[in-house]
Amino acid sequence: MSESEKNNISYIINELGEDRELYFNAIAPPIIQTSNFAFDKVNDLRKAFQDESSAYLYSRGINPTVDILRKKLAALDGAEDCLVFNSGAAAIFASVLANVKAGDNIVSVDKPYTWAQKMFNDILPRFNVTTTYIDGRNIENFERAILPNTSLVYLESPNSWDFALQDLKAVADLAKAEGITTICDNSYCSPLYQKPIEFGIDMVLQSATKYIGGHSDTVAGVLSGSKKMITKIFNSEYMNIGSGIQPFNAWLLIRGLRTLPARLDRITLSTYQLVNFLKQHPKVEQVIFPFDENFPQYELAKQQMKGACGLLSFIIKATDINQIEKFCESLQHILMAVSWGGHESLVIPKCASIKPEEFNVENKEHRMLRLYIGLEEPDYLIKDLQQAFEKI
Ligand SMILES: *Cc1c(COP(=O)(O)O)cnc(C)c1O
Repeated sequence: MSESEKNNISYIINELGEDRELYFNAIAPPIIQTSNFAFDKVNDLRKAFQDESSAYLYSRGINPTVDILRKKLAALDGAEDCLVFNSGAAAIFASVLANVKAGDNIVSVDKPYTWAQKMFNDILPRFNVTTTYIDGRNIENFERAILPNTSLVYLESPNSWDFALQDLKAVADLAKAEGITTICDNSYCSPLYQKPIEFGIDMVLQSATKYIGGHSDTVAGVLSGSKKMITKIFNSEYMNIGSGIQPFNAWLLIRGLRTLPARLDRITLSTYQLVNFLKQHPKVEQVIFPFDENFPQYELAKQQMKGACGLLSFIIKATDINQIEKFCESLQHILMAVSWGGHESLVIPKCASIKPEEFNVENKEHRMLRLYIGLEEPDYLIKDLQQAFEKI
């Protein structure tokens, strides 16, 4: 098989890692729901003890159902290998922990995912690891922030609320020259719309809870990188934290992957319609979406991302917090919930994370709402938004 055939997305999603003759030629792979595996020979058991990644021994390490998924996800990221965790947060934790020691510094984008922030602010200082937060939109900020003891640069591009981007190639080049490891949270794009490893980023992670699962029924995370880095993390953080994905959830993600390209195509088309609807609506002050021409980093987004879909934010013209609450509570079909990437459209208002007495109408961010566009008919969603706007 040629390299280009091996990198073909249809091959990866439908065939890679699947040895059907091992399981009755079943189209859907079996869920090998077992904690442990039996051995005939002491010497084989001995070998497995020496290297848990070499043989099926115990499912906290490797498991056949998880292995099928693992091969597919690594190939999608364009990586040599990957690990699948039982949450995106666990992928963040393991990848960061593996790359810092006491006395080190992390340079991070200023608004990384909440649980990355909590790790940097609450856990790592106990082990004398400091974090410098910077506005990652400007490469000079990285140059200025890097210290002699910086061992890790932590990125999230785009951010999942305001979609701030980092120039992945520029940051990767800078970090490489300084011998610093780079990690990028790629949850917004998924590997279909952005491959940070192609730009020289060392490790990429995503919450597979979002687009990979795609049905709002599984929490999971993926961490991809070089064979060397992934082996190191497998033998240490992965085995020690014990937060690898369970076989049943791995099976759900394989199932989710089958329809990933089709779902993203559909969501992309709908998202453009919703962006256009919101942009012309008199009660909308601003729409924030990376593939919108007015987005400040539009050129960079077009350069390093193949697509943008599903998530967008908008600033509502509300005169007080009650109007925002009324708008959200008036929606009949769009659900108010965290997360995204599933079949159902969602809304989440920024004001839900601030105390009502601290709400400041002058602060645009307080009037921000994030929308996730799911698989419903776009008109169905537009009508729902329309009637909710009419209530305020
Ligand atoms: C959801 C999310 C995560 C965390 O993933 P979980 O699967 O919820 O643990 C990390 N980063 C981003 C950008 C996310 O949206």
